[in-house]
Amino acid sequence: VKQAGRNSYQFFSSEMNRLVVEGHRMKVALHEALNRHEFELYFQPIMDHSSQRIVSMEVLLRWRRAGNELVSPGKFIPLAEESGLIIPIGAWVLRAACQQIESWRRQGIEVPRLTVNLSMKQLGTKQFVHDVITILRETGVRADCITLEVTESMLAENTTDVAQKLHQLSSLGFHIAVDDFGTGYSCMALLKNYPIDLLKIDQTFVRNICADKNDAAIVIAIIAMAHGLGMRVVAEGVETPEQLDFLSEKNCDFYQGYLFYKPQPASDIVNSLRRSDVF
Ligand code: C2E
Ligand code: CA
Ligand code: CA
Ligand code: CA
Repeated sequence: VKQAGRNSYQFFSSEMNRLVVEGHRMKVALHEALNRHEFELYFQPIMDHSSQRIVSMEVLLRWRRAGNELVSPGKFIPLAEESGLIIPIGAWVLRAACQQIESWRRQGIEVPRLTVNLSMKQLGTKQFVHDVITILRETGVRADCITLEVTESMLAENTTDVAQKLHQLSSLGFHIAVDDFGTGYSCMALLKNYPIDLLKIDQTFVRNICADKNDAAIVIAIIAMAHGLGMRVVAEGVETPEQLDFLSEKNCDFYQGYLFYKPQPASDIVNSLRRSDVF
């Protein structure tokens, strides 16, 4: 018994060691990733099901590391946040998204609004609004072509500073969405202090919506509250027709998920649009 315990301890510590080393390597590589042009944007349509229109597309970051390994943001965004690299990376994402809009326009493709994820560190920088305006000027894209996604926990943090910035951004013409709604500290009371256009219901509630009464009740309540506050609702992670039917019966406004489209690179997304779906 003692022997086994010792082995499992050794296994555990060498596994931890491996993870620490890997995390460190990734951090070093992440530092170089911007210079090496290793980031790419993927795009995932958000649907208005009743009209079959694509109302917007979420911009999702990918990291193509040397050797062609595609790293998902769940792995590297936390490291980028921890090291502060999320600030230049986030600025790169917004600029690249605006450049993509302009590039599609030059090809005669009128794309819908793009929706871009923000992290707390980014929004927390003093010059955030100024930096965003600079990117719009540089690229010639109007603010009303972009939705900015903040998470629920960002609203609960330093509220006056965040509120002030979001009001500035909203009056510039940006739409504001609250991402992963329902998973953070609940800040229902705070919602009314912010200029919010959209709530995005987290996929953890959508997953079992047809089977789990509690998830269903939460989603129904979120939709009612959002509509009462003049906001619209996006359901994330919609994978089955049953989930779609359920949500649409409850008057959810928009849908995002593999049932419609997976996230894809810019070069693929326009070609892969289903015939009946239009921007
Ligand atoms: P998120 O903002 O909640 O984005 C939605 C995630 O759900 C994406 O994962 C998307 O690929 C995935 N997804 C979409 N439809 C479905 C579906 O039907 N089923 C399932 N199971 N998943 C679906 P992804 O692309 O791996 O991104 C993960 C997270 O990384 C994002 O979650 C977001 O928090 C963060 N992220 C991505 N890009 C950026 C970025 O440019 N900046 C920042 N700060 N965060 C980003
Ligand atoms: Ca998001
Ligand atoms: Ca989300
Ligand atoms: Ca999420």
